[in-house]
Amino acid sequence: MPRPEIRFCRLCGTATAASIPPGEDRERAVCPDCGYVDYVNPINVVGTIPVWGQAGEQVLLCRRAIEPRKGYWTVPAGFLEFGESLPDGAIRETREEAGARIELGELFSVIDVVHVGQVHLFYRARLLDLDLEPGLETIENWVVEFDRIPWDEIAFPTVRRTLEHYVADRAAGAFTVHTETIERRRSH
Ligand code: ZN
Repeated sequence: MPRPEIRFCRLCGTATAASIPPGEDRERAVCPDCGYVDYVNPINVVGTIPVWGQAGEQVLLCRRAIEPRKGYWTVPAGFLEFGESLPDGAIRETREEAGARIELGELFSVIDVVHVGQVHLFYRARLLDLDLEPGLETIENWVVEFDRIPWDEIAFPTVRRTLEHYVADRAAGAFTVHTETIERRRSH
């Protein structure tokens, strides 16, 4: 995905021009009228890995009701809102997509997806109850044992990598923060 092309000033509506602002090293969309510089920066996607069971042996998955990857499974996640902290966003997305109430845990994974301009962050979490209700973006919820995760039906590489790390850390008995970069998938 290329950088979004900005054509109009978001403040005053004047057609922007690509130029390098003073002291910077790359072209930006600059408004010739009001001077506004429209910076395009990566977007934060924040989510949770909500577990259930005496030993946290089950995880909450959501089957997506919307594109992209409609019908595939994910954990609750979505775009961080302006004015919202990462933990607040994680709790909100989990509530919106699964109707789930959680106790938020530690940050677990931070995954750069450079080619789409996104950073995905996932928190550990504990479901407080099984009183779930799928949101508009979710077909159904599924609280499933970690060894029954449908790996071939996971919606996004960042979710798959996060769940793989989680399964490995859980088996090792120690959770750490995982940071990595996911490269563009090659087309065949
Ligand atoms: Zn302007």
